[in-house]
Amino acid sequence: MQFSRLKLNGFKSFVDPTELLIQEGLTGVVGPNGCGKSNLLEALRWVMGENRPSAMRGGGMEDVIFAGASTRPARNFAEVVLHIDNGERLAPAGFNDEDTLEVTRRITRDAGSAYKANTKDVRARDIQMLFADASTGSHSPALVRQGQIAQLINSKPKARRRILEEAAGISGLYQRRHEAELKLKGAETNLTRVDDVIDQLA
Ligand code: ATP
Repeated sequence: MQFSRLKLNGFKSFVDPTELLIQEGLTGVVGPNGCGKSNLLEALRWVMGENRPSAMRGGGMEDVIFAGASTRPARNFAEVVLHIDNGERLAPAGFNDEDTLEVTRRITRDAGSAYKANTKDVRARDIQMLFADASTGSHSPALVRQGQIAQLINSKPKARRRILEEAAGISGLYQRRHEAELKLKGAETNLTRVDDVIDQLA
């Protein structure tokens, strides 16, 4: 899937609506210290469903909302929209109706996050799965943040394996397996209950 556009509004230092075109090939972000380069990468991770405040360098998820400056008041919400070129209809079923897939995440103070795929309300899990299956997820090794290379070199084999699995696009399978196991457990509990009822009736 080719990302084509990133729109930010009230996200961290991007208080005013900001739109960036993402062209084919490798993208580098350059600029002076503190201009918001890492914030851009975080916006990409965030719209793909990142839910760990630590990955956003914050203490809580609402820390991604513009916190105010000497000349500007804080904002009440933050929104990031990612446009994905879907001309070749490579998006998974359920997301594949339009030439452009537009994923929106919005967080409002005291009201949490909401996601949309084009105009449809969707769950966080749907978005996380969409990107995990496309191996571009919020933990994707395609997004290299500061210090990550050193972390990779120093990481334990298990952590390194996770990175390789994300790159191979199979990390979504773990979540699906976990959900299938929960369903199986529920079915087993129901069967035990049915056995008990049959025993009582016998
Ligand atoms: P460096 O080159 O030093 O790594 P950078 O270009 O990656 O810097 P970022 O770390 O992306 O810069 O941006 C840091 C700026 O973002 C700081 O000025 C910080 O005050 C601002 N910032 C971060 N979170 C918020 C927020 N919630 N509200 C307002 N500003 C924020």
